[in-house]
Amino acid sequence: MASFDALGLRAEILRSLQELGWETPTPVQERAIPHLLTSEQDVVVLAQTGTGKTGAFGLPLLEDIDPGQRGVQALVLAPTRELCVQITGDIEGFAKHMKGVKPVAVYGGANIREQIRSIQRGANIVVATPGRLLDLLGREAIDLGTVQTVVLDEADEMLNMGFQEDLTDILQNTPEDKKTWLFSATMGSEVRSIAKRYMRDAVELQIGERNMAASSIQHQYCVVHARDRYAALRRIIDADPDLFAIVFCRTKHETQELASALIKDGHSADAIHGDLSQAQRDHVMGRYRARSLRLLIATDVAARGIDVNDVTHVIHFDLPGEAESYTHRSGRTARAGRTGISLSIIGVRDVGKIRQLERALKTHFTYIRVPGAGDIGKAQVLAYMHKLKNVEVDHDALASLLPTAHEELNAFSKEELIERFMSVAFNRLITQFRELPDLNVDMSRKDHTARVTAGPGGDRPSSRERFSTGKQMFINLGSADGFDKGKMLGYVCGISGVQGDVIGRMLIKDVYSFIDIEPDHFEQVFNSFKGANYKGRKIRVDEAQGPGQGGPRNDAPRAPREGGYQGSGGYKGDGGGYKGGGGYKSDRPHQTSYRGNDDRGSAPRRDDAPRERSGYQKKEGFYTPKPFPRKERK
Ligand code: AMP
Repeated sequence: MASFDALGLRAEILRSLQELGWETPTPVQERAIPHLLTSEQDVVVLAQTGTGKTGAFGLPLLEDIDPGQRGVQALVLAPTRELCVQITGDIEGFAKHMKGVKPVAVYGGANIREQIRSIQRGANIVVATPGRLLDLLGREAIDLGTVQTVVLDEADEMLNMGFQEDLTDILQNTPEDKKTWLFSATMGSEVRSIAKRYMRDAVELQIGERNMAASSIQHQYCVVHARDRYAALRRIIDADPDLFAIVFCRTKHETQELASALIKDGHSADAIHGDLSQAQRDHVMGRYRARSLRLLIATDVAARGIDVNDVTHVIHFDLPGEAESYTHRSGRTARAGRTGISLSIIGVRDVGKIRQLERALKTHFTYIRVPGAGDIGKAQVLAYMHKLKNVEVDHDALASLLPTAHEELNAFSKEELIERFMSVAFNRLITQFRELPDLNVDMSRKDHTARVTAGPGGDRPSSRERFSTGKQMFINLGSADGFDKGKMLGYVCGISGVQGDVIGRMLIKDVYSFIDIEPDHFEQVFNSFKGANYKGRKIRVDEAQGPGQGGPRNDAPRAPREGGYQGSGGYKGDGGGYKGGGGYKSDRPHQTSYRGNDDRGSAPRRDDAPRERSGYQKKEGFYTPKPFPRKERK
């Protein structure tokens, strides 16, 4: 097996590595270090995050630093503050026994004067986010004219975040004859064009298979109705007491809503997104790292650069628009040699996207079932037993209480006692479990499989197929009330809050109409008309038999479901009738959302803050982000 000794690193560095407990180089280190130490050529290294990239560039970078020389000799650019801080800390660790090496991190959202002072005190390695570095260049607080090596870390992320122009501006301030080392998880066209534009005859080192999701990650998915996603998430959380997860949503609003709903339901969660000030972000991240939060609810952009080693699960509450984002999300688990699970909670219509991801990432996604009562019960009991076995018994404190307890329990056998304490702990849970529905969509049913395989794109069912499962609503409004199809569509969407594409065919008669509604949204539309009036007349709705069947089938009122995910409108109900947690309760107090607490007044300073995706455009069944607006700088 390879060792660091064989890679050509100096003794002081080897000593630091020994102290850090790094015994063998990771594959990216083994490939890149000898090359970067000996070659004057520019290099592109394609490797996933979490594979030891920092060591791969940080160790050879140190070999070139001459402490006797003044000025910045190495510049590392990274997309986020977290990454800057982490890289700087790593380099400090590697250089612990090297005299005169001074790495400094500069990033937005922190005091710029202090950063300027640190640079002026003789920084020879600067680790920076692009926005803040440009700010420093604008103030003439840093001179990059002495830079010998530039590292672009997570280059694809920097480009994704809209830093392309900033990179151009920065690189123009560095000497022509410097070396450039570009590290990226993916080789998209933008990364390729950067490599072409700013690097000379770059050698490409590919570590692992291109675009492959790291093999230590198990990819899983479960399929539920859209309204059950929240309940499914809660069951997944409750069925694994060791779960320590990042849950991804698409929008800031959703992260906040999901976190609030989870907190309300007794889970330890908080949200992280681009609207938080740096102080708020640090606070949330601090709690997550310290494990006082079990669930970090994040947007893609906000989660970039997060390096927390023991994340057991990345949960996609919404599938991302692109395979690359999926890879980046998943890379937040299985770090530092660990394994992890990347689990997508999807609706039937997204099964096609899972297939696309399997093809893009050349990996298999395993279908799993949303845990049921038995799974959760077993997990909760085991966790409770674990706690019971490991509880510290304070004999002295109990001494005065025990005699009464003994006296009261004397008559019970051991078996009876076990039954009784189990009942105290779990009766509530057992009662709830009696009513716990199966949330899994039956994928073997013809209508569901048809819905995911039909259509020219393979995964987009035609509108006829989409509405072919018999969800049709009768409404006592028609042309006599002034409705045509357009007006009815606008009216139904306006009242219920659904998008027009969930409404199918409409049959407008004089005093009533039939409206086909996508099954997943039927309840939402149906319930929104309950108690509604039109021009003083009470609106009556009924569920009809199905498209083309004509007329309402029966008058049975539909019971509103519990625990439905109401899209942007919030999480209603209590998660499928199950209150979660049961007898086994975390001993942590319920978390309160950080927003609304202390830091509220501090103005978010976002010169380097990643931008949220402003919107999505639909392309081949996938939502792809609209191009970023150019980053604003003050
Ligand atoms: P990175 O990809 O640089 O963010 O590294 C991921 C994690 O792996 C970090 O926690 C590193 O400290 C750790 N790490 C990197 N290289 C090694 C190594 N050769 N031996 C042990 N741990 C490592």
